[in-house]
Amino acid sequence: MYTIDLSGKTGLVMGVANQRSLAWAIAQPLADAGARLAFSYQSDRLRPTLEKLTEDLNAPLLVECDVGSDEQIDAMFERVGREFGKLDYLVHALAYSPAATFEHPFVETTREDWRTAMDVSAYSLVATTNRAARLMTEGGSVVTLSYLAAERVVPHYNMMGVAKAALEASVRYLAYDLGPKGIRVNAISAGPVRTIAARSIAGFGDLYSQAGEMSMLRRNIDHEEVGGLGLSLLADRLGGGITGETVYVDAGFHAIGLFLPQGKE
Ligand code: NAP
Repeated sequence: MYTIDLSGKTGLVMGVANQRSLAWAIAQPLADAGARLAFSYQSDRLRPTLEKLTEDLNAPLLVECDVGSDEQIDAMFERVGREFGKLDYLVHALAYSPAATFEHPFVETTREDWRTAMDVSAYSLVATTNRAARLMTEGGSVVTLSYLAAERVVPHYNMMGVAKAALEASVRYLAYDLGPKGIRVNAISAGPVRTIAARSIAGFGDLYSQAGEMSMLRRNIDHEEVGGLGLSLLADRLGGGITGETVYVDAGFHAIGLFLPQGKE
């Protein structure tokens, strides 16, 4: 039987807000395979949820970190380094763009909103991967989460699409820099999944149904499929040869060029 044993491995998972978070979807198979995990949360508000979610895991470490602050990022990695000694995996599954950027046309994006979205959603990958790499003394793997709006226009996604484009480009440059150290960096481009972050996108319900109806598989993807791909990219035994890549888990939606009217397929 082909089994994945990650006992002795350690990972830091960023972006669990609740049991529907994509970060949690990736954390579960990692923990099931035996990895010991740390989880970061943005503010105290989320700590009780995380404590409950992780109560059955092997000695989870919970650390507060708002990625808008270099001091908090430094403190988080200092704590992870002290507790774990080394790090094998980093899961970066967080993003933020101010509500106005989803509500107004992209052409009206303000300088301040551009900065905020880029900082939290794209620069945070660079800042955290840099610190994580110092702890990845035996090589390692980093996974972040992206979306098709990085390369195609998805109405309302606006500034977040631009930030995801920067995120995907950052994945390639980080993978290039860290390849010689045996550290891989990849992005998962997931089709729409119902989460708290998804709810902040105007018209998400329509986008979700359309993606399900028009994808090659004629269905939406689920949390478990994102988790499975996360595990595959993180575990060397599965994804050891993949780096600098954006891998889609969207039931084939991204590869379709034109859609025929319903009834004429
Ligand atoms: P989610 O459960 O709401 O997770 C988003 C996380 O980002 C939350 O834990 C949030 O914390 C955190 N976050 C936001 N700003 C932060 C900051 N300054 N510092 C630290 N953490 C911060 O939603 P999700 O859908 O799983 O999102 C995870 C990733 O997947 C995001 O990058 C998203 O763009 C991407 N993605 C989602 C979909 C989808 O359809 N759901 C599809 C493709 C890609 P708070 O709750 O405290 O704000």
